[in-house]
Amino acid sequence: MNRAHNCDVYKKCSGCQMTNLSYEDQLSYKMKKLISLLGRFGHVGEIIGMQSPLHYRNKMQVAFDMDSHKHPISGVWQTEAERVVKTDSCLIENEKALWIVRAARGMLKDFGIFVYDGKTKKGSLRHIMVRNGTVSGEYMVVLVTAPGKPGKLREFASALVRRFPDIKTVVQIENATNIPLWMGEKENILYGKGYIEDTLCDRKFKISPRSFYQINHIQTEVLYKKAIEFASLGKTDTVIDAYCGIGTIGIIAAGEAGTVYGVETVADAVKNARENCALNGVQNYRVEKDDAGKFMTRLAEKGEKVNVVFTDPPRSGCSKEFLNSLVKLSPERVVYVSCNPETLARDLDFLRKNKYKIEKIQPVDMFPHTKHIECAVSLKRTIDNELRRRMN
Ligand code: SAH
Repeated sequence: MNRAHNCDVYKKCSGCQMTNLSYEDQLSYKMKKLISLLGRFGHVGEIIGMQSPLHYRNKMQVAFDMDSHKHPISGVWQTEAERVVKTDSCLIENEKALWIVRAARGMLKDFGIFVYDGKTKKGSLRHIMVRNGTVSGEYMVVLVTAPGKPGKLREFASALVRRFPDIKTVVQIENATNIPLWMGEKENILYGKGYIEDTLCDRKFKISPRSFYQINHIQTEVLYKKAIEFASLGKTDTVIDAYCGIGTIGIIAAGEAGTVYGVETVADAVKNARENCALNGVQNYRVEKDDAGKFMTRLAEKGEKVNVVFTDPPRSGCSKEFLNSLVKLSPERVVYVSCNPETLARDLDFLRKNKYKIEKIQPVDMFPHTKHIECAVSLKRTIDNELRRRMN
């Protein structure tokens, strides 16, 4: 694909920053940026791009507001302007998810459902999230509303499912805050089981509304295969899957490892990860709900022997506590999966100073048309570090 893409709201919507460039130029730009940030650690592998970099997102969050005639509008929430930019199409969102939201918006009036008005605090609907399983074809619709009973939402959900039978669950989640795309704790299942399933790297996964699930299915499989290859796992290895979400990396690794420990802070994700073990017949993966740094510190204090650590932190990178304990635990191999090369560079600096050798850096383009870049990095403990571990 050698052309720039046209998007009606490119300037107003801040979701994509690079649609003015052809896909090849986007990839070259990302490579240059990566080399400037990570080149000092070694060779940066060629970024793996997508064959067809459109409509790849499997999670869409659409904000709702009203126009001057009090008709519902929906689109992207623009943080700086504090308003909704109207959009009905998008180059990167799932196309059926876009239809579902358009249909839902058109049905609101028939069911007497009003969009929430931030000034008067009246009305209900604040935003809709649609998530889909790329392999399963299952869709989840989350209606994020001001606090209140479901009322007409149940009938609305049933009508939406009748129009789109691929919707397997509809959930109401309350947002009592001033933060526009927030999801609170309180949830009512309006239809279905409250989760969807998908298949990733031949394993099945349950995904709840608040759980993290990588948004680009094709590229996630590429990324995970690299990450598993970098770990060169053996049947006696004790492995940590830090920042584990619904347990994707840990469950894939479990087949090739001895024992795997996962750690994650979001309760729903931890529940999904445990259920996902059962779903895949995995018995050697234990998941704890905890801060990854605290979990690592506990293991280091107990003097656990760990061979491999996968770490896949949010954009802020690994905490200092996490990195200090990682060095104390001193696993032979570390696989760092990162969605932010800036914090990755910071953390690699620390690990290099603490006797880890950076072996391979493999970027994967998980977020075409946006400035975001994902990388898998393999690190190996050096002999110095092994000596230090023995002396401790
Ligand atoms: N490895 C998973 C999830 C990666 S996203 C996957 O590939 O799907 C990062 C995850 O870290 C999210 O699930 C987030 O909830 C979790 N997280 C954020 N801060 C954390 C912390 N301090 N300790 C443990 N988990 C954390």
